[in-house]
Amino acid sequence: MNRSELFKKTDDILREKSADFREKELERIAALYRRLPRLKAIEDDLKNNMSRFTAFAFSGNRSEEAFNEFRKKSLDLQKERASILAAEGLPEDSFKIHPRCEKCEDRGYTDKGFCECFKRELSALTLELSGLSSDYAGKTLDSFDLSYYNKPEDREKMELTLGYAKKYVRNFANKKENLLFMGRSGSGKTFLSCAIGKACAEQGNFVCYVTAQDMIADFESEKFGKSGKTKDTERYFDSDLLIIDDLGSEFSTQFSESVLYNVINSRLNSGKPMIISTNFRPQELSDYYHERLVSRLLNEFLTPVFADVDIRELKKLGRKR
Ligand SMILES: [Zn+2]
Repeated sequence: MNRSELFKKTDDILREKSADFREKELERIAALYRRLPRLKAIEDDLKNNMSRFTAFAFSGNRSEEAFNEFRKKSLDLQKERASILAAEGLPEDSFKIHPRCEKCEDRGYTDKGFCECFKRELSALTLELSGLSSDYAGKTLDSFDLSYYNKPEDREKMELTLGYAKKYVRNFANKKENLLFMGRSGSGKTFLSCAIGKACAEQGNFVCYVTAQDMIADFESEKFGKSGKTKDTERYFDSDLLIIDDLGSEFSTQFSESVLYNVINSRLNSGKPMIISTNFRPQELSDYYHERLVSRLLNEFLTPVFADVDIRELKKLGRKR
């Protein structure tokens, strides 16, 4: 799915949801009228009064007395309705069909841009497509637990890195920085990159999370697949943020290296940010990859520091201070 398909799909989902919501609203109001038939009679009278008023207004009759009569009737009916609803302890607008989203009235956007309801749906869909939703549910920047880092110097490093991650999210719309998370396995790289990804997706950005291995497999099946060319790899180029996890875990071939270079280089050229995590140290990157890829990684990416500890191990042992 590419970016425009993603937006289209989000729009479809919202339309479907608001249609469902409207149906439920109609059922709710029908039930309300069954229980309180006088409300239905008032509604009918109001409509009737309004259509008679319209006919009156077009008739050329400008009698103020007649006009006031219509007005009084309408106000009386509305007052009666309000008092019935108040006596029942119901909200005063219970008889109205409400939109699913009051902010945009189900249009999906306001004059400030995409509405929150649209962004929420987009983010849910992105998370669903990215695979971040199940494994990383509840893992957010605010739930990143620094207390697992026992040594003060480790904690200090991670505090800085966490602070940096939060700033990255805040400034995402304006600054398009690339991050390279280097550190041993279990040091919190995946957690942090996913938490950033989720936060950016919640802002309405098209975020794509993938392991290096899976991304290369997608390009392989696109190239060699029998089912013909799919568009699945487009998102690696056109997403607002691409998170490549576990670089170096893939089986290295000429093909895998050219895929990585191609994606990373074209995103750098088009100013689309990436977060890449790897267990490799700089020297190991140089040993594993061609120099042109390594130089792109080391020169174009910022490298926040990770503490040299395995949090997963500490968690298993319950060694939290
Ligand atoms: Zn809305």
